[in-house]
Amino acid sequence: MSDIIQLLPDHVANQIAAGEVVQRPASVVKELLENAIDAKATRIQLLVKDAGKTLVQVIDNGFGMSVTDARLSFERHATSKIASAEDLFQLNTKGFRGEALASIAAIAHVEMKTKREADELGTLLKIEGSEVTAQEPIVTPVGTSIAVKNLFFNIPARRNFLKSDQVEMRHVIDEFQRVALAHPSITFTLHHNGNTLFNLPNANYRQRIVGVLGSKANEKLVPVNEETEIVKISGFVLKPEFAKKSRGEQFIFVNDRYIKNSYLNHAITAAFEGLLRERTHPGYFLFLEVDPKTIDINIHPTKTEIKFDNEHDLYAIIKSTVKHSLGQFQIAPILDFQRDPNLDTPYSYQSKNIGTPTIEVDSNFNPFANEKPKGTSSSGNYGGSSYSKKSTEGWESLYVGLESKMTGNLEQSNIVEVESEEVTGSFFEDKEVTQNHITLQIQNKYIISKIKSGMMVINQGRAHERILFEEFLQHITINEAVSQQLLFPVTLSVSPQELSLLSTIREVLESTGFIFSKLEDETVEISGVPAAIGNQEVGIIISDLLTAVVNETEIENELHTHIVAKSLAKSLAIKSGKALSTAEQEDLVNRLFACKEPTISPTNKSVFITYNTTDFDKKLL
Ligand code: ADP
Ligand code: MG
Repeated sequence: MSDIIQLLPDHVANQIAAGEVVQRPASVVKELLENAIDAKATRIQLLVKDAGKTLVQVIDNGFGMSVTDARLSFERHATSKIASAEDLFQLNTKGFRGEALASIAAIAHVEMKTKREADELGTLLKIEGSEVTAQEPIVTPVGTSIAVKNLFFNIPARRNFLKSDQVEMRHVIDEFQRVALAHPSITFTLHHNGNTLFNLPNANYRQRIVGVLGSKANEKLVPVNEETEIVKISGFVLKPEFAKKSRGEQFIFVNDRYIKNSYLNHAITAAFEGLLRERTHPGYFLFLEVDPKTIDINIHPTKTEIKFDNEHDLYAIIKSTVKHSLGQFQIAPILDFQRDPNLDTPYSYQSKNIGTPTIEVDSNFNPFANEKPKGTSSSGNYGGSSYSKKSTEGWESLYVGLESKMTGNLEQSNIVEVESEEVTGSFFEDKEVTQNHITLQIQNKYIISKIKSGMMVINQGRAHERILFEEFLQHITINEAVSQQLLFPVTLSVSPQELSLLSTIREVLESTGFIFSKLEDETVEISGVPAAIGNQEVGIIISDLLTAVVNETEIENELHTHIVAKSLAKSLAIKSGKALSTAEQEDLVNRLFACKEPTISPTNKSVFITYNTTDFDKKLL
């Protein structure tokens, strides 16, 4: 049999290599931006069309290339950045593999214009699928412009695999931001389909972060600085109250390179211990400088993961540095996230003067009078509301059964009239149980309801989410939203990319009842909201919504309408911990079972469980 091993032709090898380097338009963005930085550019423009599917172009004013280098730069393993293996341990450049341009040229139409300062004329080079189709001298400014068109034109499977423009653009922006944040002294711009998304003049770190996140970011930043033998740390963390549900604002840079490292991320999160709301993630921008010899950036083809020689020391240093900064800026644990609303001063009292307490002695008071069965007492017999209104939350639940039995044995019906309009754990609210009502709330979390076969335990929060979700969906589809005009429009500052997101989902939001009176220049002005939303909640609801849209479009390509309805339902649903009157409990149960899919919450969790009396029989009979 003849030999069967062949060397792959270059263009095939390049296409295969391209699979590693170029997954999506954002990969091209990263490689081109990094090359421009390595070329010592001070001004870099990124132009993108159709989220990079049609065009990614990077124009820099760096040192350019000679005619020969321009041609060579597209060869595989062609790099000016290392000459020997030892150089790998001294890297001060972004690139070193020499495969980015070769890979990109294998799967796109590439047009390069480049000129060095010393040269009279520049070079124009066109390559399509690794084939050079033109090379000629041209007049062009000093620097390099590389336009990558029709990505994956010759690999339809890869092209079809790309996500929606919105998702791809999100990745492009992510890459752009990472590079722009790492290099504040370079001027960057990003244009998408002719619109300027970012215009970042050269700046310091703080200004650059503000340029990327929007002007509101400035007051959120807490500086972090430390210098030790093994690392120099500078940068900022976001104050804990700005922690978000997504991990979007977490950046670690090592020697000006954006990296991902869950171990170091953990160190920072650990420093925030006790300061964060549940399920939120701190924001940070940390710039680490270490000796290049102590890291290995070679372990990942796209080089976002690196290995540190002394990871444990770094962990300890980062944790204590961040902790120190938070302490220095007097950011103490914020204890009132789960504040008991019962402790708030009622509205009616807020404007009243605080007088000296007076004592009234009721000379008719007989401490034994109360010993007669409670069922027969009327509200007056308690000698004032202070007795009946006492919050008995906690211990009263132990007596619930007892009490209802007691009253049940007596002459029934609306016996106890408690003055309290407040429903929090009153001793007497369970009177309704005796009146044949069918629901009972336990631990302000679950509603128990009698059903034919036994009983069901409903998670009140999830039930309400399901109800609101279906309501919002209906509003959106038939466009019948009930809007509530705000007396004072709410203004929010948003980052440019949040703004562009909001513009995409504007219509959906308007069909739920939002009215936007302004949506430009980092500002959103909201003059109307869905009837269910309170004024003060608008900011947090919008921010949750943006997070949801970013995360979920990415993961599931889900419909905007669903994402919006889901997020609003989640924000507005009652939570566990909320006491509900019997009427409210019943309303909730009734509305739940009027839903199309009462069994699962919009986030696919069970809304209730049922118990058959036969289950009880097994244990109790
Ligand atoms: P690497 O960056 O790993 O060296 P690339 O394929 O990205 O590999 O680039 C190959 C070479 O082309 C680089 O080493 C550099 O010499 C040259 N080059 C690429 N982009 C530019 C640019 N924008 N300006 C100047 N030279 C560039
Ligand atoms: Mg490169």
